[in-house]
Amino acid sequence: MTVSVARGSLRTLSKGSGNTRRLVIDAAAKVNLTLEVLNKRPDGYHELSTVMHAVDLSDRLVLEDAPVCEVHTSAPGVPTDERNLALRAALALRDAAKVDRGVRIALDKRIPVAAGLGGGSTDAAAVLVGLNRLWDLRWPESALEELAISLGMDVPFFIRGGAAVGTGRGEQLSSLSGSSLGLVLVNPRFQVSTAEIYGRVTPAMYSDGGRAGQVVKALGTHRPDRVAASLYNGLELAARDAYPQIGQMRAALTAAGALGAVMSGSGPTVFGIARSWEQARQIRTRMTRGSWECWAVRTLRGAAIRIRAT
Ligand code: ATP
Repeated sequence: MTVSVARGSLRTLSKGSGNTRRLVIDAAAKVNLTLEVLNKRPDGYHELSTVMHAVDLSDRLVLEDAPVCEVHTSAPGVPTDERNLALRAALALRDAAKVDRGVRIALDKRIPVAAGLGGGSTDAAAVLVGLNRLWDLRWPESALEELAISLGMDVPFFIRGGAAVGTGRGEQLSSLSGSSLGLVLVNPRFQVSTAEIYGRVTPAMYSDGGRAGQVVKALGTHRPDRVAASLYNGLELAARDAYPQIGQMRAALTAAGALGAVMSGSGPTVFGIARSWEQARQIRTRMTRGSWECWAVRTLRGAAIRIRAT
């Protein structure tokens, strides 16, 4: 059985799920089509304006009823204690819903770690959506999103999926209908800490938030060339000096035929926009000659969290 969790449909998902003991879930990554740092707030956080789009590179999670909450993964660099975002999501929901249940989470990482693609955040969203069903909680999506903010600023986005403009620290969302695009993701096989990149931001890298409106308009035309022309990431300026490979991956993508390329989130993954899905696959083939890891992916206009089977 395949059940997609579209916006506003979490109630229907819970129907008849009282006996569910096991769920298999795909949790999709995201890219930032634009990311602007507007300023630094008195609380030390940066004010952002960003446009995020879910893409079909997904982690796979299996949730099973268990006496306690635990997570298992063989992925290098991913903790299995309470630092793991998937486990933190389970513990936070268990406490907030006041249930006396546990879950065993088997996490198969396919999204590169600390890569600017929201891997940990989508895992957390998958656990919230999955446990809402496994534990038969019937929480509305809005309540899950509220709890999600306490886990990380990108987590609410994954509960909604599709495309959205994020403001504030990125967590105040306004959904968009998005567009079906073929993209190529390139990762240099090293990790970058989000905190480090934000630490490198200077006021000279601030901008006024106007780019989000441009990319929203471009998405509405469904023309990949228009979307490619409006890509922007203010954090790339902060990351490029320390990690010259970011500029090299960007240049390689455009040389291989991408219409435009930019870093996603706090990097180091860079993505390029292709004319079509077919061209995305061709670009990916051209890019895999180096030591970089590459994927041809499609943007997802529907749910980022998909329950595949029970
Ligand atoms: P950010 O959301 O900060 O932009 P990111 O998407 O670039 O992060 P993640 O893959 O979420 O990066 O990893 C960030 C850090 O979180 C990693 O260093 C890792 O140790 C830790 N982490 C905790 N839980 C997870 C998880 N479920 N999957 C991946 N990393 C996790």
